[in-house]
Amino acid sequence: MAHEHHHHKPDFRFCPHCSGTLRRQQLKAHEPQRLVCTACGFIFYDDPKVAACTIPILENKIVLLKRGIEPSYGKWVFPGGFLDRGERVEDAAVRETLEEVNLHVAIRHLLNVYSYPGYPVIVIVYIADVIGGQLQAMDETLAVRTFTPADLPWDDLAFPSTRDALTDYLAHIGHGGRRT
Ligand SMILES: [Zn+2]
Repeated sequence: MAHEHHHHKPDFRFCPHCSGTLRRQQLKAHEPQRLVCTACGFIFYDDPKVAACTIPILENKIVLLKRGIEPSYGKWVFPGGFLDRGERVEDAAVRETLEEVNLHVAIRHLLNVYSYPGYPVIVIVYIADVIGGQLQAMDETLAVRTFTPADLPWDDLAFPSTRDALTDYLAHIGHGGRRT
C-alpha cells in the first residue's frame, strides 16, 4: 500500500447505509462539522488515518526510498503505509517495509508518534533491524539506498514527519541532530 497523505477532506454526498443525502451539520459546539444523513441520521466521522513506518537500520545505515507516487513524488522517505482495519500496528510496519523495499525487519523499539494540526495522518515510526531480504525498489518506489547520518537528504524529504522522525533518531543515537 502507498504511503499516501490526503490533505483534502472527502466530500461524500450519499449515505453508505441508505443512499440518503449527506449534509454538513454542527452537532457539537467544540467539534468539527459532521456529514449527517438527512434520511436516517447516520453520522459520517472523518476519522484520521494511521500510517505505520519503520526506519530500517542496515549495517548502521538508514534505509530510505524515493517515492514513485504523489504526493511528494521523487522525495525521500522511510518505508510505511496505512493500517488496515484490525491490523496490529507493528505488523503493518513490518509488512509495508517488505512491500516497499523488500527487506525483512524486526522491530527494535518505537521511535515516536507524529501528528500535526490540520493534518489527517497520524504517523507511527519504529526503529527496526534488517534481518533478511535484499534492498530493492519495489512497487511505487523509484529508488532505494542507505544513508549515513551525515549524508541524509534533508532538502529532499517527503513529509514533515520524515524530517521530524529522522531528527529524533539522530538525537536518539547521539549524533547531535540535523544540519540546518
Ligand atoms: Zn442514511
